[in-house]
Amino acid sequence: MVETPPKRAAAPSPKGKKCPICGKPEVTRHRPFCSRRCAHLDLGRWLREDYRIATEEEADIEEESFDDG
Ligand SMILES: [Zn+2]
Repeated sequence: MVETPPKRAAAPSPKGKKCPICGKPEVTRHRPFCSRRCAHLDLGRWLREDYRIATEEEADIEEESFDDG
């Protein structure tokens, strides 16, 4: 019987940059992230932030108070 060494699917880049989402070493193929999943997470994050700002502005309009002195 021959023991095979563990496979290394995605080798982290040797430059030492880290994924901004989870802090793992970045993978050249998914720069600057460590995986496609993290890249999608980042995209979704700023998309949601943009959406939230838009809704907050709308809410402000609804809170108009009529002050007729
Ligand atoms: Zn990551």
